[in-house]
Amino acid sequence: MSAMFHAYIDPGSGYVIAGGIAYILAMLAAFFGLVLWRLKQIFGFFKKRPKMSLVLGIVVPMAVGGFFGYRFIQEKTMLQSDFDGRIIILAFDGMSPRILEPMMAAGKLPHFAQLAGEGSYHHMATTNPAQTPVAFTSFATGVNPGEHGLYDFIHRDPKLLGDPEKAALELSCSNFDGGKALPVITAPRFWNYATERGVESVILNFPVTFPPDKIKGRMLSGMGVTDILGTEGTFTYYTSEAVSGADVGGKVVQVSVALEIDEFLYGPRRQSSAGPVETKVPMHLTVDVKKHTASVQIKGGESFTLKQGEWSDWQGVTFSLGLFKKMKGIARFYLVQADDTAFKLYVTPINYDPREPSFPISYPEGYAKELADKFGLFFTQGIPYDTWSVNEKRLTEEPFLQSTQSVISQNRQMLDFELERVKTGIIFSYYGATDLAQHMFWGYADPKNRYLYSKGNPYELTIESIYQQADKIVGEVKEKLGQKDILIVMSDHGFAAFRRAANVNTWLREHGYQMLSKGKTEGGDLLADIDWENTCAYAIGFGAVYLNQRGREAHGIVAPGADTVALKKELAAKLKAWKDDDGTPVIHNVYTREEIFWGEHADEAPDLFIGFNDGYRASWQTALGAAPAVAVEDNAKKWSGDHLIDPNLVPGILLSNQKIENEHPTLYDLTPTILRAIGYKDKEIEALKMDGKPLF
Ligand SMILES: [Zn+2]
Repeated sequence: MSAMFHAYIDPGSGYVIAGGIAYILAMLAAFFGLVLWRLKQIFGFFKKRPKMSLVLGIVVPMAVGGFFGYRFIQEKTMLQSDFDGRIIILAFDGMSPRILEPMMAAGKLPHFAQLAGEGSYHHMATTNPAQTPVAFTSFATGVNPGEHGLYDFIHRDPKLLGDPEKAALELSCSNFDGGKALPVITAPRFWNYATERGVESVILNFPVTFPPDKIKGRMLSGMGVTDILGTEGTFTYYTSEAVSGADVGGKVVQVSVALEIDEFLYGPRRQSSAGPVETKVPMHLTVDVKKHTASVQIKGGESFTLKQGEWSDWQGVTFSLGLFKKMKGIARFYLVQADDTAFKLYVTPINYDPREPSFPISYPEGYAKELADKFGLFFTQGIPYDTWSVNEKRLTEEPFLQSTQSVISQNRQMLDFELERVKTGIIFSYYGATDLAQHMFWGYADPKNRYLYSKGNPYELTIESIYQQADKIVGEVKEKLGQKDILIVMSDHGFAAFRRAANVNTWLREHGYQMLSKGKTEGGDLLADIDWENTCAYAIGFGAVYLNQRGREAHGIVAPGADTVALKKELAAKLKAWKDDDGTPVIHNVYTREEIFWGEHADEAPDLFIGFNDGYRASWQTALGAAPAVAVEDNAKKWSGDHLIDPNLVPGILLSNQKIENEHPTLYDLTPTILRAIGYKDKEIEALKMDGKPLF
């Protein structure tokens, strides 16, 4: 594996990797549903500016204090814990009290209800912002984002704002530098503390764990693991229909209408004397329009036949990156259509092969292979759900749900396996399906969604059925609990409808806080068209507002000190008064940096953070720093549920077989709770200065 790893980080391939990161940013935009032409523009933008691509590779600021703190812990003499039970943590991403409570009351979730009755059930306060990577990092570290330094999917570099040659925005969930995957979080997490006490942890798919930590126990990386292209997941779609424009999150390939088709699977770029070139592996397709089938022969693999409307098993593919340099991937195929009128074939993003990944995705390194040998190949990509293809209308809901089911069973198999073999220690198991299903199917269950909802539609109960599967998992785990075992069932945040999209930069412009360059009526992505000399404030990400501050931003005009304080106050008050066309408040509350963040990295936080009202969210365009024509617009997309609103409106859930007296638990309380359970003394926990306290 290391030979391939070095192949990819060949010093000469620096451009390849940096370009890959620029691509990830574009893919992130894709993930968040930007319109097609805009994505194309971004690609063009990066192509013309290779330097900017390189800047995108800059390392996310490290949690320096946390890092040294951890080193200190490691160097201390190991104290042995006398903990001899197990702590089993089931994490259902985005599980919301809004769905859970009525379902429990209606008797639809018997195991949740029983657990709540015998032990405890509470709402759990989430982080600000209520975002999965931020929230899980706060759970694992016990500290707020100001301390661990992860605020959003996107970071900005204020010094580079307004410089068309350089990027001002960076990604924050994976951290490639010089072709290596580096840790994103350096503050110690609960498995590091457990390792220090000699307690075993098995951590399955915890978000932001790529690359994995070296721990006592085993770890399979979660959200943050890229596909083989280095993106958050790029599908390929082969179609005989005319192709117009690019797809968001995918590559569309136009094929001939012939019965025998010669095509390629597309892999990572490799360095050549002429610069980076795309690698590809030949693939031959034989179509039978009468039987509605297609046989697929990938070079070097066995041929397989698919029926229309059928998923294939995992198929392996090996890309050659030069002499003796190879990269192995796996993908699944779905035959959308094979008849007289059209041929359409969908291929999932190519995942790293868990038997031979090009970057470390598990600890120990052979753990991913052990799981693959035992259960067959599985999704290794951090966010393994085919949401982009559904948003692009390439896949329908049915295959999406089938694919989601296979992720859930993969998660369950691994959990069962570890429940059997871990006699004492911590077992953590993550389920992303609850989050993604709510993003994609919320509108089908929301009578106020005029684009997706109709009474009795086939997806009205999809979210409920996913919750019922979670209930089954809880029931099965409960059966396997020993006398001393602790069970924690949690979510990182709740969920709400996303019906109206707020363009924050547009509002700033309308209220005189932002000016566009001469002749512009709309602001492009990446804060492209802003007249910085006459702009006081700008928005990027999902609710962050920054002042254009003198001495901090490259072309700052707002003086630090009294002027900054006064402007923040003024902006907060005016934003709170923002009303939609029908008079509904767009914003629930506005928070200043000082109110919600403290610690080592507090000065990197946004100046203001908008807590949106129920039903509203920052638009996809706002996330990338654009300023469209209208301040508030309808959201007509299938991505119709979200949680990027005021955290007070979207608490998560916490259940346990233990009694929890604290009526207001927060994510920060979980790590102190785990530490106490495995034998840390209260004084030792206090000395770690976390933002939470043990719950039992
Ligand atoms: Zn989500």
